[in-house]
Formats: sequence, C-alpha cells, structure tokens
Amino acid sequence: MRLREDFPILQRKINGHQLVYFDNAATTQKPSSVIEAMNDYYQNSNANVHRAVHTLAGEATEGYESCRSALKNRYNANKAIITSGTTEAINLVAHAWGRANLSKGDAIILTEMEHHSDIVPWQMLAQEIDIELRYIPVQKDFTLDMDLFEAAMEGAKLVCVVHISNVLGVCNPIEKIVGIAKKNNAKVLLDAAQSAPHQEMDFQNLGVDFMAFSAHKMCGPTGIGALLVNDESFDEMQPFMGGGDMIETVSIHGSTYQTNEQKFEAGTPRIAEAIGWSEALRWLNEIDVKSEHERILNSARWMADKLRKLGMTVYGRHENDDAAVVSFLHPTMNSEDLAHLLDARGFAVRTGHHCAQPLLDRLEITGTVRASLYFYNNQDEVEAFVKCLTEILERFA
Ligand code: PMP
Repeated sequence: MRLREDFPILQRKINGHQLVYFDNAATTQKPSSVIEAMNDYYQNSNANVHRAVHTLAGEATEGYESCRSALKNRYNANKAIITSGTTEAINLVAHAWGRANLSKGDAIILTEMEHHSDIVPWQMLAQEIDIELRYIPVQKDFTLDMDLFEAAMEGAKLVCVVHISNVLGVCNPIEKIVGIAKKNNAKVLLDAAQSAPHQEMDFQNLGVDFMAFSAHKMCGPTGIGALLVNDESFDEMQPFMGGGDMIETVSIHGSTYQTNEQKFEAGTPRIAEAIGWSEALRWLNEIDVKSEHERILNSARWMADKLRKLGMTVYGRHENDDAAVVSFLHPTMNSEDLAHLLDARGFAVRTGHHCAQPLLDRLEITGTVRASLYFYNNQDEVEAFVKCLTEILERFA
C-alpha cells in the first residue's frame, strides 16, 4: 500500500507552505478510499437500513452492518454498539448501565487524567443518584498513583480510565488496573479514544467490560464511534433512547425491544459514516501498526529531546506504549502566539486545555502546545518543525 500518498489533504499548502499536520490527537486525516466509499454510498446506494427489501436498502444495510463486523473482528468483541463517538459511548454507559445498576452510596473511580467526556457524564449521574466519584491522582512522573488506586477500591462498582492520555500520551497500565478492579468486583470502562488508533487491541483479552472509541481519530469519518461491551454487561444495560429500529414490537400498551446491539441504536443510524469507517478499518488492517507506532514514537522522542534543548518544558515520558504526542510549553512565549507563528509556516498544532482541565490543574498549568503524530507523518516533518520552532524562538523569544 501507499501510505502518505493515500491522503490527498497532505498535498495542501497552508500560507504558501506545505501542510505539516500534527493535530492527530484531535482528529486524523482521511485516506482517499474512505472519502470515495462515502461518496459511492451517497451516489449509488443511498437508502435507509434494516426496513425494506429493495436493492438499495439491502446495500445500505450490508454497508452499515459491515462496520459492526469489522469492529468485532479487529477488536475481538461480541458486541459493538455504534454511537456518535467516544463521548456518546461513555454517556451510553452512564445512562444505560449506570442508571440501572448503581445506587446511592456506590462509588465510581475516575482518574485526574480523564478527558472531560469521561468526567462530566459521571458528575451528571452523581447529581441524579448520589453516587461518589473518587479521582486517582496523577504523580510528578505523569503516571497514576497505583497504591491510591488500590486503596480507593472499597465500595467501587465501576472504574473509568483513559487508556492513553490525549495530553501526555502516557499509556496507563490497563492489565494492572483490570486486575485490581476484578479483585474488587468492579467493572472497567476503558476510554480508548487515543489507544484504539495506535495499538493492536484485543477487547476480550484486555478483560475490560466497556471500551469506547471514535472513528475520526483512526482515519474514519466524524460523527461515528463505538462502545464494545462484554455479554454480561450488555445484559445489564437498559435502553435510554427509545424510537425506531431499537424495538421488536410496539403497541399502545407498550413495546418490546431488540435483543442485539440495535436495542441501543434508536433511529436512522449513521450509514455513510459506518461505510466510511469500515473502509478506514480495512485500510488500517493493512498497516503494520506495531512498527508504524514505533517509528512515529521514535520521531516524537527525537522531537521531545530537541524541544527540551530549546528550553521548552515537555509534559510526558514517551515510553514504549505511549502515544507519539509531544505536549510542551515555552517558559515565556505565549502558546497561542507560538501556534499562530507555526501555522503561518504550515504547521498545524493544538493549544489549550485539550478537554482535560483536572489534569492541567494537577500540573499547575492552564494549557500546552501539543504536537501529535500519526502514521502518515515522518521524520522529515519533525525535523522541519524543530527547525521552524528554533527560528521562531530566535526571532521572537
Ligand atoms: N477521550 C479522549 C482521551 C479523547 O482524546 C477524546 C477526543 N479528544 C475523547 C475522549 C472524546 O472523543 P469524541 O470527541 O470523538 O467523542
């Protein structure tokens, strides 16, 4: 396969310079084949799913369901509920599982490293049913305090943990966390928004109960994601959105529900997006994820090292399973100014709190500049980035 050449947007010039896209933790670019698959659906097969016998409905249904099959195959899961993304998948656990299985006085373990999408739904649920939220602190070395983790488990029914931090790139020790949770009969919800795109993952082997992730961070379209659920937890979930597609029968006296994933997919689903995601998964299946990950992680390490030498503070550690994310701050220069100057030279990076304010509070900062790499990035781009930053600092710092 071609890798870089598959992404038409990488040919773009920004302010007269070749685009260097380092905002992949926010969203990745899409290969031509994903764009073409979605176009092809709208041009040739557009119809609603599941409810008609005509040819187009059959093609749309097959396209939609092929996404579910591809997810189950790639991640070795029995149940894949299609959602609008990680955020909706986590909210689904809070509403469909949390409301039905948690009660006043139960505790949920969260970490200070969570994205807002794995904090706010639990705060909302806590207000509704008076459950306790316990946050595991992040230490100076950017890891979770595992002793406090273990100590916090008493009375906990659910552990919600991010696999890879979108700010630090740090990969949390999931095997250890699952071991502690299971010893205490607690379930585990894994926020895999940043890990599913970067690692080969086996849902059943990991032993988590729920796993949430988004298509758009792994070369698929926006507006679609998934919640993988094990059979036991699936049976404990009650639907919270009612409507078409999720029912078996409806009368004026009441309704019965589907027994498969459609139970949690009320209404017309994201058909074009599912077709696009299927294609993205096919594309990813051709990539040697392990060696590509190693390659970009090495580039991130190189970048982090050079940035430290330029006087930046780098947040993160870049160990083997960590993501190729470099979050940094200059001691005096404003991050937004830096990002604007980089954009003027074609480099796309992100600044701000990255939807992880509790983590930044712990680090006693309000934001970072974040350069995040994906498989189509290369060392030449990283070197050009460091050169550009060096020139910016020489002129402006
Ligand atoms: N969790 C993490 C770790 C993330 O990085 C993100 C996206 N920045 C999300 C959750 C939310 O994903 P989405 O916006 O696609 O729902």
